[in-house]
Amino acid sequence: MPAETIPLEASLGRILREDVAADADYPRFDKAIRDGFAVRHEDLSKVPAVLEVLGESRAGQGTGVTITPGNCCEIMTGAPLPAGANAVVMVEHTEPVPPSKVRVMRSVREGEGLLRRAAELKSGERVLSVGRRIELADIGTLASFGKFQVRVSKKPRVAILATGDELVEVRESPDAGQIRNSNSYTLLGQVLAAGAEPVLLGIGRDNVADLRKKIAQGLEHDVLLVSGGVSMGKYDFVENVFAEYDVQVLFDSVAMKPGKPTVFGTRGETFVFGLPGNPVSTIVAFRMFVTPVIRNLLKAADAGPGVLRACLEEPAKCDAARTAIVPALVRFEDRAYRIRTAPWKGSSDLAGLSRANALVVIPKAEGSLQAGEWVDFLSLESL
Ligand code: AMP
Ligand code: MG
Repeated sequence: MPAETIPLEASLGRILREDVAADADYPRFDKAIRDGFAVRHEDLSKVPAVLEVLGESRAGQGTGVTITPGNCCEIMTGAPLPAGANAVVMVEHTEPVPPSKVRVMRSVREGEGLLRRAAELKSGERVLSVGRRIELADIGTLASFGKFQVRVSKKPRVAILATGDELVEVRESPDAGQIRNSNSYTLLGQVLAAGAEPVLLGIGRDNVADLRKKIAQGLEHDVLLVSGGVSMGKYDFVENVFAEYDVQVLFDSVAMKPGKPTVFGTRGETFVFGLPGNPVSTIVAFRMFVTPVIRNLLKAADAGPGVLRACLEEPAKCDAARTAIVPALVRFEDRAYRIRTAPWKGSSDLAGLSRANALVVIPKAEGSLQAGEWVDFLSLESL
């Protein structure tokens, strides 16, 4: 994707396309990090000690006074340290001696209660790099550097086409044999979460003429997602229409359960996916194959799978032919994630997935995994 310049306010979660360096030293001046008195630590080698208060240094203002032996200056957090001072003693460790002195009860080390100029960052030092996803602290860092505009990757436009003669839209009531289209909405959510811009193309019917028209529309985007119509059914025409449009198919079968009939190809600059129609299969196939493509299009430095490890609480049966990715319940207890598969009725059981909070990866193998074994999982919050 090309880069674009956007306002700072809109930059959270976007992928940086410029390196960002400190525009100045941070802090810009020696500053107090306590409310109290700026002192020469040498004057407090014996305490209590009584010092003359020469003035005050307020945040945003500072002071013209210079601290000489026996003298000090009132100071607030964030205020510049006056010349001659080398420590700040907390106000809690002092008591006033009217009219113009203060008694200090504790001694301080040189440098205590203050931060020297450039202690955090030197001017020109790089903090954020190209490919970085802009996180919460980064927005504050950009603000403090005066970056009211930021260069980021443009969002890929991702067309979403649901297919099936049985589908009706969300506002409609299904007649006998019909169901509501839910995949367009889970895909929309996943596209947004991956940092791209969804474009809903509605429902395509299971005939070549309608699919031709709608897939042609979809191929105008950076990514096209077609849900349904990629299995072995008599009316699964999606792959035929991909072929008519010269989509270069790289794979159309995956050793994964669910998600076996997932299709991936390219046509010119467009990345094309045929995702199996069962609602849970669609979600899983998106997470495994579409998310990484979007993250790479965005030039995100970290396009990794976001997999965590958990300890199995109950045995789990493996599939000898395919890696299974199954709804699961995970919790953090005793300093580790603990996971078990959630009750569900197969890859159409979206409600089963709603009651789960993770997907657990059960590797392709003969037999079962035992309780206590470690497995990979994906949090459903980040899908
Ligand atoms: P297909 O991949 O077209 O064979 O569809 C597999 C199953 O998923 C069928 O039971 C479909 O009714 C169902 N399905 C397909 N598309 C959707 C959709 N957009 N929303 C909900 N369910 C769907
Ligand atoms: Mg279908």
